[in-house]
Parts: sequence; structure tokens; C-alpha cells
Amino acid sequence: MAQDKYTAVWVSHSSMGDFLKCPRLYYLHNVYKDPKTKNKIAIVTPHMSLGIAVHEVLEGLGDIPANERMNIDLLARLEEEWQKVTGKKGGFLSEEEENGFKERGIAMIKNVIKDPRFLVNKRIKLPREVMNPNFFLSDDHNIILNGLVDWIEYLPDDTLHIIDFKTGKNEEQEASLQLPIYLLLCNKLQKRKVTKASYWYLENDKMVEKELPDADTAYRDVLEMAIKVKEARAKNEFNCPKGNYKKETGEGGCIHCRPYELILNHDSRAEFVGQGMFKQDMYIIKKEL
Ligand code: SF4
Repeated sequence: MAQDKYTAVWVSHSSMGDFLKCPRLYYLHNVYKDPKTKNKIAIVTPHMSLGIAVHEVLEGLGDIPANERMNIDLLARLEEEWQKVTGKKGGFLSEEEENGFKERGIAMIKNVIKDPRFLVNKRIKLPREVMNPNFFLSDDHNIILNGLVDWIEYLPDDTLHIIDFKTGKNEEQEASLQLPIYLLLCNKLQKRKVTKASYWYLENDKMVEKELPDADTAYRDVLEMAIKVKEARAKNEFNCPKGNYKKETGEGGCIHCRPYELILNHDSRAEFVGQGMFKQDMYIIKKEL
């Protein structure tokens, strides 16, 4: 099949993660478009905003020469980024809640200032245009894999170390496709060999080195999941295994999809707070579900 970026199914760690949890969650977050605005929908939460602000500060360092990075006032940078997520648009329902998350962000950046680790070393970036770095995972299936690796350190032996910044408290699940996807992106989009992979848990400043997946196994696992996504899209089969949410009774579904169902049902607990980076309609959920 000829490569066609417009008809291809695009998959990423995030979208396949949704699909792994449940097909309907994938549908609500990655396929559904509001009939009026024609935009996809997304929920903004404090955890997400904290992650975005800290990632922006750290990833932004990659555009600065290695020996000058730590001359930057990182706490001031965080403040700039925080202004983009402050208040309801960042999913914060009160000043107290926002201050708690901001303090966590400040603590993470202070950890970085205390010991910047590999941030002062050379790094490389994967080539990209407007979209995230991507490539055709399978021509036959017309599937594109895309993703953004947080940081790729260039090691003295001319190999690479891929690093993911973690701002949440939970450790990444062993079955996650994140590292396989990062490895495939690096192998396809540049020439050097990846020899190391780590997660940096910023809140407690813990580096966890991960075993690199075998490239063939990574390809097989990611393609297998991507084909399942494509097949579900082709059949338009995205039912909830617990029974789809019913507005009248509030029954069905579970906590993962409930926020999206509230938006679809114009429930007053879901409030529109603006447009996201990819033109999604962003909502906050105002009360406990
Ligand atoms: S509501 Fe249903 S589809 Fe959504 S995550 Fe829960 S069980 Fe899965």
C-alpha cells in the first residue's frame, strides 16, 4: 500500500495506552469530535498541568548549549510555564489546590538545580516538522507511530541514552509500551544505537534504569496493539465492557470514561475552559464523580 499520511491511522503511547485500558476510553479521547465545534475533547487535570509545566521547563533546556543550561533561572522558567496552566484552564478548582501542585513543581525543579545529572551533557533530538517525530510503522497496514522522547542523551561512546521525565507518583507499569515505542522511534529516525534507558522520577529525584526491550519484540508488540486499534476503528467497535454510561440513571462505565460521558451529555459538572495545543476542546470536571 502506498504511504499516505492523511488516511493512515496514527498511534502513540498515549492513544494505545487509552486503548489498552478500554476501547471506549480510546474512542472518547482520540476519535470522538464534538458535532458543533468539530474538535476532539480532553479533560484537563491538575496532575496533567503539573506535568506539562515541568516538562516544558526541562525539555526547553535542549535548545540551549549544554554548558549554558544551568545558567538559566529554572524557577523563573517554571513560573512562566505555570502562568499558562494557572486557574481553571489548568484544572485547578481552588487556589489551595493549585498552590499544592505548584509547590510540587517547585520541589522538582529544585531537585534538578541541585543535581542536573545528564541535563548538562550533549543531547540529540529526533527530526520533526509540525507533528511529533513519526514514521510508518507498517506500510501494509497504513499505520504511523508517533511520539516525543523527553530527552536523548548523547553518550561518549557514540551511543544514546533515552530518558523519560516522571512527574507523577506512580511508577510506569512494566507492561507499558512506552520504552518499546521510544526505541522504535530512535532506531528509525536516527543512526546511533540506543544502549540505555531510564525514568527520572523528579519528585523524589530517583533515576531508575530500565532494561531495553529487544527491537524485534518491541516492533511486534507495538504493531500488534496498533493493528487492534486500527481494526476497532474500521469496525467502529468501541463498547464499554461494563455497559455504556446511561445519562438517565448514571449507571454504566467507570471512573476513566465518566468525565468524557459528562461532556457528551452536556452535564453541568463538565465546564469548557478553552482550547488545547491541538485545538481540542478542554474541560474541567467540577465535582467528584
Ligand atoms: S467506562 Fe467502560 S470503556 Fe471506559 S474505561 Fe471504564 S470499563 Fe473501560
